Amino acid sequence: MIRIKRKKDTYLDFASATPLSSFVARAMKKAEKYYANPSSIHALGVEARKVIDLARKDIATAFEARLSEVVFTSGATEANALAMIGAVSLWQKKYPERTPHIMVSLIEHPSVLETAAMLEKRGAVVTKIPVSENGIVDVAFIKNNITPDTVIISVMYANNEIGTMQPIRDIAKIIRSSRETTNVYPLFHVDACQAVQYEAVGLVKTHADLLVVNASKIYGPRGIGALFVRKGVLLDPLFLGGEQEHGLRAGTEPTELIVGFAAAVKQVVEMREKETKRLTKIRDDSFLYIKNKLPTAIINGDQLLRLPNNVSISLPSVDSDYLLLELSEKGIYASSKSACGMENGDTSHVILAIGGDPLAGNLRFSFGRTTTMDDMHRAIDIVAKALEKWNRFSTPTHS
Ligand code: PLP
Repeated sequence: MIRIKRKKDTYLDFASATPLSSFVARAMKKAEKYYANPSSIHALGVEARKVIDLARKDIATAFEARLSEVVFTSGATEANALAMIGAVSLWQKKYPERTPHIMVSLIEHPSVLETAAMLEKRGAVVTKIPVSENGIVDVAFIKNNITPDTVIISVMYANNEIGTMQPIRDIAKIIRSSRETTNVYPLFHVDACQAVQYEAVGLVKTHADLLVVNASKIYGPRGIGALFVRKGVLLDPLFLGGEQEHGLRAGTEPTELIVGFAAAVKQVVEMREKETKRLTKIRDDSFLYIKNKLPTAIINGDQLLRLPNNVSISLPSVDSDYLLLELSEKGIYASSKSACGMENGDTSHVILAIGGDPLAGNLRFSFGRTTTMDDMHRAIDIVAKALEKWNRFSTPTHS
């Protein structure tokens, strides 16, 4: 196999995936001995159950939830589907003569938008919540469009492409005040995957009824996430079988993954404050450097109300893939949009939602624990050179 030798690989795509932390890997290795099925009544099964219970307790504490409010899933895609399909399905049983209404922001992850589209095909009414030019959802729109049939409102905590953080508490207030006294509807569903590293997201602070997180964005293992379901909120399961996860998620619990998830959460909580400060500085310095080196660049999303690890820019009339390949050739790995793109052509649905130029080239640099200011300077310098080359070759010569 040919392996090209490079000085240094610079990974700037942490919003797509994070590497497994060695702390997490060690915790998972130790958990290998608890291989028995946690539902078995023999001693090994009981031990495995205890290990899962401990991990569940740690995760519940970190996200301000009761043990009974934690439902482990295979990741955030499944947790979003369980929240939305599960809520609508149960509501329809309760009110068979009514038509369910759901609201989703235009910049949600495809796992939410595609689930909304599927529910629409099955007869639900879907309202898309617009966002401002700087990528913040329109709170007044939510207030004005809630109906007595609104089952669930989905607004992510922080956007995965442009990093903007949403006014979650304001939205929660509006939703709560729209409810009749004994009613739990509309439910508030918050996908917080991208925010967990930098914000203390929890059921209490967000006032969410359904909160989604996963391990793969926080240096934990892939294939595990959680849906926190506020007490009193009822859902239908997506599939049937065993009674695991309070009857909401059938299937043998993956003990090592759950232990790894808890370890990743523990480490994130410990590092949160320091990493947030460090990366905010790199982010803000990067914006200054971009203004200087790439004067035609447009910053996507609010410059301050955004994740500390996100720099997203658009450059007019250049191909994103060209820029990404130029970067990749020099050992710098970034992306142009969500790795889970949708079937709507090349332009990201998020860039379109903020009124961005569909012909511009978009770049998302997302930082992590290994990122330094030098990495970003180098990346921006390479983009500036690549852009110069692009303009040289694409400018028609006049005789
Ligand atoms: N939601 C958001 C905001 C994400 O960034 C992602 C991952 O890209 C997902 C959901 C899907 O997560 P998973 O890969 O765990 O299904």
